[in-house]
Amino acid sequence: MKAKVRLYVDHPLGAGQTVGLSREQAHYLFAVMRLEAGDGVLLFNGEAGEWLAEVIVANKRNPVLECRTQTGPQVSPPDLWLLFAPIKKARTDFIVEKATEMGARRIVPVLTEFTNAERVKIDRLQAHAVEAAEQCGGTFVPKVAEPVKLANLLDMWPQERSLMFCNEALVGEDRKLAGTRGPWAVLIGPEGGFSDAERQRLSELSQAHAVSLGPRILRADTAAVAALTVWQTTHGDWQ
Ligand code: SAH
Repeated sequence: MKAKVRLYVDHPLGAGQTVGLSREQAHYLFAVMRLEAGDGVLLFNGEAGEWLAEVIVANKRNPVLECRTQTGPQVSPPDLWLLFAPIKKARTDFIVEKATEMGARRIVPVLTEFTNAERVKIDRLQAHAVEAAEQCGGTFVPKVAEPVKLANLLDMWPQERSLMFCNEALVGEDRKLAGTRGPWAVLIGPEGGFSDAERQRLSELSQAHAVSLGPRILRADTAAVAALTVWQTTHGDWQ
């Protein structure tokens, strides 16, 4: 049994387990992809690895799948958060998609002094994370958190979590990522950059490590991908 579709389901998975589907998923499987009873689908739920399931009832109203065998282990990303200041809608979507592919565990929109975003729709961003995980072969979907003010976040910053502060004021300087193992977060500013007060506050935070992302100023979406790459190759799961 081969499978040409991968789906995230919010449902327990295990041998013999039957699984229902959302309306959208049923529409996608049976109307768009034209699957029939006996066809295979790959499922993951963010906890139980990847499973091959068989379509038992190919019905848009009452679809039934049944898990057969586990096809891959659960692979969760390292304990890395991506904090980013939301930008225009399409670029914010891009950041969430790329952060999922790059292996972030939690994605947090942060409101900074110069953040100029349209309203952030968390449901929509979460759906992008699900789609990216389905597409990239991952078995984990990062949680997209409610937006939080940068100042509040820093006031209650967890003692044990290091912060990779991507500071555009260090452009061109040799300030590479160093620091310890353990939980981390990456912080990317908005198109307008960080304010002096924010930079000052970050310099006082002992967990923060200010870094440069090279000799050019990157757009925020590029900076997010570049920073996640640097972190994954030095501290994460590409080492
Ligand atoms: N308007 C600002 C640039 C902001 S770029 C200016 O012209 O100075 C958006 C974000 O990407 C920054 O806040 C920073 O977090 C990150 N960034 C972009 N280029 C960077 C670089 N060379 N080094 C470190 N961070 C960078």
